[in-house]
Amino acid sequence: MYWEKEIETMDRANLEKMQAARLGETLARATRSVHYRKVFKAMKLDTDRIRTAADIGMLPLTTKEDLREQWPYGFLACSRDELIRMHSSSGTTGRATVIFHTGGDIAAWTNLLARSMYMTGMRRSDVFQNMMTYGLFTGGLGFHYGAEKIGALVIPAGAGNSKRQIQLMRDFDTSVIHIIPSYALHLSTVFTETGVDPRRDTRLKIAFLGAEPHSEKMRRKIEEFYGFKGFNSYGLSEMNGPGVAFECPEQNGMHIWEDNYIVEIIDPVTLKRLPEGEEGELVMTTLLREGMPIIRYRTKDLTRIIPGPCPCGRTHRRIERITGRTDDMMILKGVNIFPIQIEKKLMEIPGVGTNFLIILDREGYNDQMTVKVEIEREFFGGDLQQLEALRHRIVEELRSDILITPRVDLVEPDSLPKSEGKAVRVVDNRKD
Ligand code: ADP
Ligand code: ZN
Repeated sequence: MYWEKEIETMDRANLEKMQAARLGETLARATRSVHYRKVFKAMKLDTDRIRTAADIGMLPLTTKEDLREQWPYGFLACSRDELIRMHSSSGTTGRATVIFHTGGDIAAWTNLLARSMYMTGMRRSDVFQNMMTYGLFTGGLGFHYGAEKIGALVIPAGAGNSKRQIQLMRDFDTSVIHIIPSYALHLSTVFTETGVDPRRDTRLKIAFLGAEPHSEKMRRKIEEFYGFKGFNSYGLSEMNGPGVAFECPEQNGMHIWEDNYIVEIIDPVTLKRLPEGEEGELVMTTLLREGMPIIRYRTKDLTRIIPGPCPCGRTHRRIERITGRTDDMMILKGVNIFPIQIEKKLMEIPGVGTNFLIILDREGYNDQMTVKVEIEREFFGGDLQQLEALRHRIVEELRSDILITPRVDLVEPDSLPKSEGKAVRVVDNRKD
């Protein structure tokens, strides 16, 4: 049941002691980098005064902008000879950031993925199809190494080419997959079109769903179609990539591996630390990174810590499903809206298909939101009255949640642009 029982179930006092010791080592290493040497000096910070994880508030925050400014090597805490791998972020919100790893870093990261996958029930007898982009993006190689460490048979399928993915699954008895949730929904339409029923014609039993925000409803919709259990997988390249936080069999929040990271939740405006249970921005400090330690990194992801122990026996705390990124937030007529709110509502409505797109326009002084919604094929041939009723229902459901009235266009299945990586949910035409 546990990959590393002692660490996964370590009591909090010992876990915190371990964190304090590792934080000390991390600070010593970080001081060797151009960036932290400069920052610590400017703050006149005496790192010896930081003794426990609770003192972490004295340390400076680190942002994506800092990483960009120090491009390419300003965060390195070791010589380049010691590095064995480079990765980068997807660049969803601007120029991508790069991260460097030593052999020790790759080993620690690989172990976190093995621990996470093992936790969900994956074993060496499984066949694992990794349907993520390989290359600079961390989702490919990260999972690949972790699955090999468990000893599973790995199929490095990569992203896209849906028909071939289905063929691989059937020919080689794939039992576990790693897939982006929006792609899993798209793939379900390809299954249907080719007359293959994943419940009947494949051996799928576990899926790791990650790399982008998705709602509980979306998870259930995917699980229902495929007949597997879908586990939420969270990570970001700055903190290695996947394997940062992962759902256990309880499927109620993701254990965030506190032997590798110190976790804080802050108010994104005042930057003050929030009490356990309150929602805010996730801030993380690496504890085992050799090549490129990062202190108090502002992830821009919004979540909260779920108070209380998990029935699975693991003592590492759980974070709630990510509700969005601070930079995903749309402001419309003074109302703050996250794409996931729209997704959540849409997934509840029967007849809604697998993809949607939000378009923001400025008309005179007014902001207007249009939501293009793909609907299920059965509906499309249907009568106009039925279509209009569905459209009306979507408008009403969205209005009740986001408090403004969107324009809703129903479109044919498969007609909206698809991405092989993270889904693009918003097109903002208001910027000039
Ligand atoms: P980028 O920041 O350019 O997108 P990354 O590939 O490092 O590059 O992506 C990390 C980000 O992806 C996270 O900060 C988060 O916003 C999002 N993400 C990853 N996994 C999840 C998940 N399970 N749920 C919600 N968001 C996720
Ligand atoms: Zn648990």
